[in-house]
Amino acid sequence: MTLLILFDIDGTLLRAGDPAHARAMREALHELLGEPVSLDGIPLAGMLDSQIARLALLRHGVSEEAIAQLLPQVMRRMGTRYRELVPPGARRDWVLPGVRPLLDRLQQRGHLTGVLTGNAALVARWKLAAAELDRALPFGAYGDDAQERHELVTRAIEDARTRFAVSPSHQQTILVGDTPRDIAAARESGTKVLAVATGRFGVEELRAEHPDAVVPDLADVEHVTALLESLGRCG
Ligand SMILES: [Mg+2]
Repeated sequence: MTLLILFDIDGTLLRAGDPAHARAMREALHELLGEPVSLDGIPLAGMLDSQIARLALLRHGVSEEAIAQLLPQVMRRMGTRYRELVPPGARRDWVLPGVRPLLDRLQQRGHLTGVLTGNAALVARWKLAAAELDRALPFGAYGDDAQERHELVTRAIEDARTRFAVSPSHQQTILVGDTPRDIAAARESGTKVLAVATGRFGVEELRAEHPDAVVPDLADVEHVTALLESLGRCG
């Protein structure tokens, strides 16, 4: 059975905390508003880029209407700025243990691998190109086109349908992510979730959120592959 396996990016595929990402967001906001906009104190882990920018702008006194108009420009400008800061190949060393062989293995087994990320689409695509993972993860759903993370699941499934002419159900879809927000998104969308403790949360903290399974990292490729396939079978 073909599974649709959707990977979060920061803390799951790559080390979390890319300083160029926050810098690109700050510079995009500054450029479009003509003055600095603070991101201090906004909880970044597992949040969508659009949610982060929205919160920062609201706190800065920008109206909801003005934010709705500004957001697409912020997301685009941030993507362009990220690409200027981080050229292709520059994040090769940020790829977490097991990720490259796991993606190869899952594709050999006939599964579809994509991303489900809070990163804006342009940032996500440039970040994957910087890590040389872009070809292994050719599709997905991104943080500039939804209000909440769980809405991205349906978009990623639709994207897979359009591109590959397959119709994976929610039961055949598995999220892989490093935060309680990834686990909540799976719950709210009716998919399975494998939690991985390579971001800011440890195994026990993640287990407390009741994912379908949790692993310390993705390094044991055969074990993780078997785990994902067993989650996909017990839909
Ligand atoms: Mg993450």
